Amino acid sequence: MDPNHQILFEPVRIGPKTLRNRFYQVPHCSGFGTEKPWTQAAHRGVKAEGGWAAVCTEYAPISPDSDEAPLIAARFWDDDDARALRLMTEKTHEHGALAGIELHHSGGHAANTQTRMPGLGPSQLASDLEPHVVPKTMELTDIRRVQDDWVAAALRARGCGFDIVYVYGAHSYLPMQFLSSFYNKRTDAYGGSLEHRARFWMETLERVREAVGDECAVVTRIAVDALGPAGIHVEEALAFVKLADGLVDLWDVNVGSIALWSKDSGTSRYFAEGYQLEWTGRIREATAKPIVGVARLTDPDLMASIVRSGTFDLIGGARPSIADPFLPQKIAEGRTDEIRECTGSNVCIMKVDGHGHLGCIQNPTAGEEHRRGWHPERFTRAANADRAVLVVGAGPAGMECAVTLGKRGFEMVHLVEAEPAIGGRMRWVRRLPTLGDWGRIVDWRRIQLDKLPNVAVVTGSRLTADAVRDYGAQIVVVATGSHWSGDGVQAYTHEPIAGADPSLPHVLTPEQVAVEGKRPPGSRVAVYDAEGYYVAPGIAELLADEGSEVHLVTTFDVVSPISDLTLEGPLLRQHLHERGVIAHRGVTIEHIEPGAVSGADEFEEPFSLEVDGVVLVTQQVSDEALYRELVRDPAALEAAGIEAVYRIGDCVAPRMISEAIFDGHRLAREIDSPDPAHPLPYDRERRIPDVDPVIARRTASDGSSSVSG
Ligand code: ADP
Repeated sequence: MDPNHQILFEPVRIGPKTLRNRFYQVPHCSGFGTEKPWTQAAHRGVKAEGGWAAVCTEYAPISPDSDEAPLIAARFWDDDDARALRLMTEKTHEHGALAGIELHHSGGHAANTQTRMPGLGPSQLASDLEPHVVPKTMELTDIRRVQDDWVAAALRARGCGFDIVYVYGAHSYLPMQFLSSFYNKRTDAYGGSLEHRARFWMETLERVREAVGDECAVVTRIAVDALGPAGIHVEEALAFVKLADGLVDLWDVNVGSIALWSKDSGTSRYFAEGYQLEWTGRIREATAKPIVGVARLTDPDLMASIVRSGTFDLIGGARPSIADPFLPQKIAEGRTDEIRECTGSNVCIMKVDGHGHLGCIQNPTAGEEHRRGWHPERFTRAANADRAVLVVGAGPAGMECAVTLGKRGFEMVHLVEAEPAIGGRMRWVRRLPTLGDWGRIVDWRRIQLDKLPNVAVVTGSRLTADAVRDYGAQIVVVATGSHWSGDGVQAYTHEPIAGADPSLPHVLTPEQVAVEGKRPPGSRVAVYDAEGYYVAPGIAELLADEGSEVHLVTTFDVVSPISDLTLEGPLLRQHLHERGVIAHRGVTIEHIEPGAVSGADEFEEPFSLEVDGVVLVTQQVSDEALYRELVRDPAALEAAGIEAVYRIGDCVAPRMISEAIFDGHRLAREIDSPDPAHPLPYDRERRIPDVDPVIARRTASDGSSSVSG
């Protein structure tokens, strides 16, 4: 270990518990909650194994008046929920870490679409997160009942093995709603002065503390600056920390609010590593208790300096722990170059909130630890490891596949790339404005490839079908990717755009702009986006930075709607606005001619724009010619000694980078399965009872002996 990093491995006491080192996986959503207990246990357990001293659940609502649906929380309403999470505490303890539970109540944000109960708030004010939710003003009986629920949940947590219980107040949830005069307009003992507004939070802390006694550490999470109206600002946070300090064993600090979560889980596009310290770094002024903070920290030198300066005692990680569950162990072993660094693309958030199950752009095993049995650092030797494998194309899919095949012990893997360097589309994507940290996808894989003696990388060699057949491999994996359509074929028309031809000076593809340096024959340019993610905004910013007048014309109602799923949307739109990019929304382009584009708006009214050129970001097309040529001639494959040809990534179908990486990883994990081209089934953790439990319960209570129908 680098002696500079030694400080990160000192034990830290939090109340009655001791953390073995300073790495603390702060609570983060997963889509597992108490719905997928085995998945939850395996995901957190792998981090405990990777050296994190504590791992926490996501938000765990204490009662049915905070149901969080349709999102999946660790609902912690009853003993069944406790049984579900016991699996996690056992797994965590097995690996020597402490387990934490983020006990939670949404208060006035709770839509309660499942339980159909009203939200509860300090005052009857529409939620800034869900404006259609107007909560009930909490009466004294509601306050007591919620505090009782908090205590009951804390006791359940203690009973199922949690070492750390939270009174979660960050992200503008219930305790913060009481503390913040944005939410709290009460005139009773729970509103008005800071002391009054702090009462709910402090009473809850006091009661939870009293209940769990010396068996659990009591932690509170607080957004020390809302960076907007929905919470408090740092001076008030300092005053609150002083007030409540005696009730807390560890302060877990962050910034933002739930409506401005984008400022907490800051994307790398607009926030540098360590960005939160400007606010959270001030909390030491108010307390001598341990502090944990986050800021997408993956650099061990920065971590060590944060601890050495006394700013934080513990290095918090959510996204960095998803990208690399073994981050602490790699630092401990001096393998810092092997840290699979978080890209800050927030694909994890899209996966959790948008798709209902955690995933990661960097780490294809995240969320797959239980259901597919994938471990991020352990690989079994493939049964067919003696076969020579040729992977054609070193984009995200090909790189990941070659790395994983190498780790599965294949004796000879060749990764062959046409271009002078590996990376595929990432070679140009990482050079687009604000997307530099996405380059970590390539950097980590390059280092892995360099370290694997059984994997050879050949660049600058475009393979033909004959060359593939002559290569001497028994297994061929085609990972040749995709390109942007130059004819403008798009979702809403399924036909080319009239006049779209990228051999003309005024029609451009993203690759022509970003790789070949092609520019329109004048300074006014339209970037036409029918895809809705990062490519069109990236190209638009590139051209705007060069001085072009850029019009971002999009079929969607907002610019880059997919970026809303990664918390990047509002920041991205603001950013483009500041660079002078002019947005035209709800427009379909149907004609292109020199000097103009035209089409229709959302109401079928004509739209036209005078521009010198247009960049088409409509849809991508797989580069599958090589694959098709190979499989078309099985006799030639057999004659060449090739036993199998597979394809992965965008060559199959153009998808998100995370999916291309997953695809490459999946094939390598299952390359010795009976039919590697098709994924093995995975455990869905469905509960399929033999007997309908509702009918069974009714039958038992009314004494009837048979159930029909
Ligand atoms: P994916 O996201 O599926 O990995 P990319 O488009 O990012 O796909 O990368 C595909 C890579 O394959 C590119 O770097 C491209 O240069 C390379 N490639 C395509 N055809 C060939 C070929 N015939 N021989 C070698 N490399 C190829």
